[in-house]
Amino acid sequence: MCDVSTIHDERKGENMAETIHEKALRLIATGAVTVMSTEWPTVDADVQGDHGNYQVTVRVGDHVRCWCPADGDCSHMLAVLAVALESTTGLPAAMALGPVNA
Ligand SMILES: [Zn+2]
Repeated sequence: MCDVSTIHDERKGENMAETIHEKALRLIATGAVTVMSTEWPTVDADVQGDHGNYQVTVRVGDHVRCWCPADGDCSHMLAVLAVALESTTGLPAAMALGPVNA
């Protein structure tokens, strides 16, 4: 079912077969997200992305910052948000992201 043979670079922006939601789910599923510290409402995490290791800082209700080259929202932010939600509410991270391609 998941037969995506090419990994798309989110910096290119075009022809993205994998949405940032799908990629976030993949990052979570593969254990790419490591929460470094949680000082609510701030969560610091490391995400092993396809092109490098990125630091993501989530300040819940305020802002999300990711050090990857992507402009705007990225899969790393979504993945960390979902993992942070899971750690505080018990809601499974995959569920927090909701259905993909909805
Ligand atoms: Zn990012």
